[in-house]
Amino acid sequence: MSAEPPAIAPEEAARIATWLRDSSNTVVLTGAGISTESGIPDFRGPQGVWTKNPGAEMLATLQHYMANRDARVRSWKNRLESRMWEAQPNSGHVALAELERKGKLELLVTQNVDGLHLKAGIPLERLVEIHGNIREFTCMGGCGDRGPIERVLDRVRAGDEDPRCRTCDGILKSATISFGQNLIPEDIARSERAAARAEVFIAVGTSLTVYPVALLPETALRGGARLVIVNAEPTPFDQYADAVVRGQIGEVLPAIVGLV
Ligand code: NAD
Repeated sequence: MSAEPPAIAPEEAARIATWLRDSSNTVVLTGAGISTESGIPDFRGPQGVWTKNPGAEMLATLQHYMANRDARVRSWKNRLESRMWEAQPNSGHVALAELERKGKLELLVTQNVDGLHLKAGIPLERLVEIHGNIREFTCMGGCGDRGPIERVLDRVRAGDEDPRCRTCDGILKSATISFGQNLIPEDIARSERAAARAEVFIAVGTSLTVYPVALLPETALRGGARLVIVNAEPTPFDQYADAVVRGQIGEVLPAIVGLV
């Protein structure tokens, strides 16, 4: 019986590691795929939430959340029961934190809201959570209140199914960016600036189909960066990439970072 082939060929890992060693500005973009090995399903992978239930995409829009009490009740219930609270960083998250400790990561832009990069040790000054996070809530009513999500979850646990803002009676929502909701301008600007200056840009575990984030590899390429894609399935950017790696992220990233 032959042994399983490695997730990435050693010479390919060495080639990418050399680019990272030589780069003075590396930007990494991650998507839901880096967290599947922590037990959080992605949206569009083979086991993805939307692959299995296409109608769920509509339910994730801001408009639906704001207009339907039922959607909010279900959403808060899902938040309470979410497996994201127990999830732990996997070897992919740990490898990126190691890259940062080695002084080889300029900025990590994540589309994930699970907070696992922070848990793995990436400092906030090197991290943009471009689709927000589940740690906080925000008031949609205009008073701008924001705080730890536990404050709202405690009210949900106590029986308030659709808690309203105590200051302005606005609708409360987790501080995640839903479809149809604007991104935070400073977060986009910071990510764009870093991508434009990147020497190496690595896209990890993302289908690169959610805009405007999917513009970042384009910006990086225009600025002359090498593009590396680590993703199990094809993406629209594969044809422009200097390297495309299809293996499991939790094996691929440690293999590369270990050589940097
Ligand atoms: P996506 O679901 O569109 O794509 C994920 C990609 O990762 C897929 O192409 C899949 O083949 C690949 N993948 C999954 N597991 C992998 C593994 N172990 N190794 C290699 N490849 C793997 O994800 P996206 O591009 O991030 O877009 C989805 C949106 O949903 C994002 O905007 C994000 O905010 C949100 N989301 C976040 C989480 C989270 O926070 N963990 C989870 C689901 C969705």
